Amino acid sequence: MNLSLDVKNFSFNLNQILKTSKGILKEKKGWLIKVKTSSGDCGWGEVAPIDPCESVQCKQILDSLGSFPLRENLEKAIKSGPGALGFGIGCALAEIDELNISGKRKWHLAAPQSAFLIPNDSSCLAKLDSIIAKSKENKQRIFVKWKVAIQSENIEKKLMAKILDRLPKNSKLRLDANNGWNRSQAIYWANYFANDSRLEWIEQPLPIDDLEGLFTLSKLIPIALDESLLKYPLLKNQWRSWQVRHPALDGDPRGLIKELENNVTRISISTAFETGIGRRCINHLAALQQQTLTPTAPGLGPGWRPKGNLFSNNPFSVWEAL
Ligand SMILES: [Mg+2]
Repeated sequence: MNLSLDVKNFSFNLNQILKTSKGILKEKKGWLIKVKTSSGDCGWGEVAPIDPCESVQCKQILDSLGSFPLRENLEKAIKSGPGALGFGIGCALAEIDELNISGKRKWHLAAPQSAFLIPNDSSCLAKLDSIIAKSKENKQRIFVKWKVAIQSENIEKKLMAKILDRLPKNSKLRLDANNGWNRSQAIYWANYFANDSRLEWIEQPLPIDDLEGLFTLSKLIPIALDESLLKYPLLKNQWRSWQVRHPALDGDPRGLIKELENNVTRISISTAFETGIGRRCINHLAALQQQTLTPTAPGLGPGWRPKGNLFSNNPFSVWEAL
């Protein structure tokens, strides 16, 4: 199969700066890729690492592939490059393979209702009120994610009490500390939620390397790993509580499809704030997650990305938007 490869740069600002305990995220940038077969089928991918060193590596590998890469070299780049590169190339190859085999689009499933990501500052309460009001209108159960370990403990304790006053009984809350707590802080919050069934999980409460502390905490309450999985991918086969996966940073999505189809439980699909091209794949994976034995709302950050053709569900429109 003769292939051509086109690459375009993209960047966009989030609607709002995302604060985490490890810094801020306000802009996403990277490359969109189009792989075309000699029969004219197109596969699309998005390569957008968050780590600046990985950006340099991705750029070097994309440049080295040239305009007419061998399929073999694309598969090699997936294995040797950063996860974000594997995601983009894997998405595109899976798409042209599906077109070749069945004539159908690969990334066609629509995402289920997402969890809501509310900001960490005091504006979170107004945001939460409007989410709750809408959910009552639509009679929908809500999932809410709140980033913690950003402000002083005192402020966050007060805000948490106000959030819990508001959250309906059947809703679910995810706290994401982005490895910002120490063990005693994490134990405080584990005990705080011991009898509150609204807590779905605490995400990455402890430093990436404190696997012993994370394991001990997971005996008390559900603990979702995020950053630890990126550093120690083998944990994906070992961690029995929740795992937050960011497919756009994680590598070839064909591997994740296999896990979901083999019913690996407690995987949560989460966004890394994609353009429309990457998002089609995330949506599809989130829909597959719903069919596992532990369905839960994906974390797609509704309302955090701008509007426009760059975020269209039609890859041709996304490509033309640049
Ligand atoms: Mg996280």
